Amino acid sequence: MKLHELTAHELSERLASGEVSAVEVAEAIFARIEEVEGQVDAFLALTRDQALEQARQVDDRRAGGEKPGALAGVPIGIKDVLCTKGVLTTCGSRILEGFRPPYDATVVRRCRDAGMPMLGKTNMDEFAMGSSTENSAYKVTRNPWDLDRVPGGSSGGSAAAVAAGEAPVALGSDTGGSIRQPAALCGISGLKPTYGRVSRYGLVAYASSLDQVGPLARDVRDCALVMNVLAGRDPHDATSADIPVPDYVAGLTGDVSGLRAGVPRELMGEGIEPEVKAVVEAAIGQLAELGMAVEEVEMPNLDYSLPVYYLVAPAEAASNLARYDGVRYGHRTEEEVADVYDLFAKSRGEGFGPEVRLRIMLGTFALSAGYYDAYYLKAQRVRTLIKQDFDAAFADHDVLISPTSPTVAFGIGEKADDPLQMKLADICTIPVNLAGIPALSIPCGMAEGLPVGLQIMGRPFEEDLILRVGDAYQQATDWHAKRPAL
Ligand code: GLN
Repeated sequence: MKLHELTAHELSERLASGEVSAVEVAEAIFARIEEVEGQVDAFLALTRDQALEQARQVDDRRAGGEKPGALAGVPIGIKDVLCTKGVLTTCGSRILEGFRPPYDATVVRRCRDAGMPMLGKTNMDEFAMGSSTENSAYKVTRNPWDLDRVPGGSSGGSAAAVAAGEAPVALGSDTGGSIRQPAALCGISGLKPTYGRVSRYGLVAYASSLDQVGPLARDVRDCALVMNVLAGRDPHDATSADIPVPDYVAGLTGDVSGLRAGVPRELMGEGIEPEVKAVVEAAIGQLAELGMAVEEVEMPNLDYSLPVYYLVAPAEAASNLARYDGVRYGHRTEEEVADVYDLFAKSRGEGFGPEVRLRIMLGTFALSAGYYDAYYLKAQRVRTLIKQDFDAAFADHDVLISPTSPTVAFGIGEKADDPLQMKLADICTIPVNLAGIPALSIPCGMAEGLPVGLQIMGRPFEEDLILRVGDAYQQATDWHAKRPAL
């Protein structure tokens, strides 16, 4: 096996034993990037010099007898929504063209402290709004399994990079499915942690009550390794939880016998492609063979997830994105302006793409006087009902199982002009963000020659349990080991 094909835990073993150096690993991965990036277009910026310098430091520490952490020398790709000190951070938007943050996001700093060389910044839908990465202002990322199809989104660059061998692991963010859906469409594993499990400091805000950072990787064990680096309280983020962090790798016992799984009927019905459903049903059968008790559950309020999300998320986005004014950072119009409001309007009109403008308008409308009670408040109330459906389901089930995406990867351009179809891509993932719970997507089979993702949802702060279930499935199957022929 070539170095770029190895998982992070395989690399970790070879680095620890001295079989390879961190510099050799980084060079092998940049060679792979050179080989396939022209076809995949996963990255917005590459940070080769920095990565090699970080790798050299890890090698020096090992040579000096130190034992740096498990991921020291394992390179990582970073979604462009995370602030990286001195390194281009655009969120896939023209409005942040050329922006270099003066500080690192906490998750970026944690990866750096763990000795993980940063490969570069990965492409994404503008401000993480989208499900195909086609909303990036800069480039279209292609699915390594079929270059005419999308990688999913909004963390499509991270997912495509991991699937294509351009990064062993990557960070993404997930507001309504943006880690899990691209992981599913690219045939890799991805975890959205519980709201509050991972710091959001330095994560450019989309919808602050829904956003979380998490790993995309080639298997569940790698997700657990990265979670050991990411998770924990951060004094810079008041919403990060002060709850002890378990060792996620130690929790991968392979034993799931006696666990009770529920399958929400609402996530297996209308809109799920029959071929996807058949693959997911087979995977559920496999979990039963591993000793899990599986039964259907009813969660009637999940049917309202999409309308609730498309009120709450745009409302929060409209407020968060008010900071891009052309004055403090990012794009400023070169047109003549009449006054400061004209400067705001022209800069924003030029800097934001159509999907972002649409959502700012929707959110502003939903929050405006006279409409607030009818839309935003009502959506928040239904959000509580959705959360209560989860609480009830988790009262007698340890995990819940569904497809991650109702379809396999779709064609580039296929849904770009059909906003409803695009938004239906998230019907299975959005409820999880509304409830704030953790969920994992793992590859569980193929339909039409393309990967299908299985979603495993857990109780708040029970990442260890859903990782254990996903890992047990991967110990018994080999879908996660399949690689696209690129
Ligand atoms: N596709 C959803 C949206 O467009 C979710 C995106 C995300 O999770 N960031 O909002």
